Amino acid sequence: MTHITRRHFNRRLSEGLLGTAILAHSPLACAMGAKEREDRSLGIALVGLGGYSTYQLAPALQDTKFCHLAGIVTGTKAKEGIWASKYNIEEKNIYNYENFDSIAENEDIDIVYVVLPNSMHAEFSIRAAKAGKHVICEKPMAISVGECDEIIDACKRAGVKLGIGYRLHSEPYTQEIKKYVKEKTFGEVNYVMAEAAYRSRGNPGQWRLNKALSGGGALVNMGVYSIQSAIYGTGENPISVTAQEFSTRPEYFKDTDETITAQFEFPGGSMGNIFTSHNASANRLYASCTNGWFSLQPASTYIPLAGETSRGPIQFPNESQQKLQMDDFASHILHGTINRAPGEMGKRDMIIVEAIYKSIAEGNRKISLDLGKMGLV
Ligand code: NAD
Repeated sequence: MTHITRRHFNRRLSEGLLGTAILAHSPLACAMGAKEREDRSLGIALVGLGGYSTYQLAPALQDTKFCHLAGIVTGTKAKEGIWASKYNIEEKNIYNYENFDSIAENEDIDIVYVVLPNSMHAEFSIRAAKAGKHVICEKPMAISVGECDEIIDACKRAGVKLGIGYRLHSEPYTQEIKKYVKEKTFGEVNYVMAEAAYRSRGNPGQWRLNKALSGGGALVNMGVYSIQSAIYGTGENPISVTAQEFSTRPEYFKDTDETITAQFEFPGGSMGNIFTSHNASANRLYASCTNGWFSLQPASTYIPLAGETSRGPIQFPNESQQKLQMDDFASHILHGTINRAPGEMGKRDMIIVEAIYKSIAEGNRKISLDLGKMGLV
């Protein structure tokens, strides 16, 4: 058994090759012995130490049960020491974008979490997979459907798990909405409205307003949340989309879309309306059903969500969504629980994003979609 390293052990777990029953009676279980609890917490390396890693992911990783912050990958030398001392990160677990591939040799790192500008997601997710690491890739998954395919293929080839940073699927208000839809608590959903938008200010040179780095504007940034809401608000993938674009501050939004609305048709007969913008604030999900309604407002922020239905308020305790999300992904690897936001979900959303841009480019033409059940979890 000595030739089975911790990494191989985790990999085999993720492949379902080692079940609990086998584990309980195997010499490997004895060999793991006292280290078992430690081994059940997977080491995460964050790639890109910007706002989201700094203020959400790293703090959340201090409270996670099945994973912990073990390493960092940064292009900014000055951040290395700051993060190392704040989070007690060993020197050998600190990488830059150039030497990142040698993370393959590092058994402290099980999961690489890519938190870079969107155009860098594919490159770093693929490099992580090739290094034999499980991958969490932030939203939007990539800047084209082709890139999503490349990430999915790389993870399949390497035999590693892939999750998208869609934290809401681990969050109780969203889970409650999905339950209403599945159990038809309020009957059939006839209409869903999903808004995800904020007013962008500040440096017009920021990467989110630079198409080469972002892959698009409001639609790829906030719009993916409204696409997601419309889908879990109906429980179906759309069969068509018709979209419109609006521009009121062209001097600021020189390179990327400012405001987009789109209408979806769903196979069950319901329809959806989404709104996304970098020019106005909105954050809501509302569904009108045959026997009532349900809504979330806010619906996708990481300040606590709030919900109401035609029967009264929805209330859950406040917990870090990022903590729940990363624990869910680690548990998926360790215990074979469901992958709440697999790569196919990220790819599906990018297919819809591309269809929305196509509709706008072709004079608001209705674009048919053939997604089947792709990415529905
Ligand atoms: P940010 O601008 O705060 O940080 C970006 C990081 O990338 C910085 O550390 C920067 O140094 C690094 N970087 C490397 N190359 C760069 C380049 N060429 N240009 C600019 N920065 C470069 O961004 P963020 O808010 O941390 O977002 C990072 C990713 O996380 C994005 O894909 C974003 O969509 C996603 N995100 C997701 C959520 C969520 O709730 N799931 C929230 C925020 C951000």
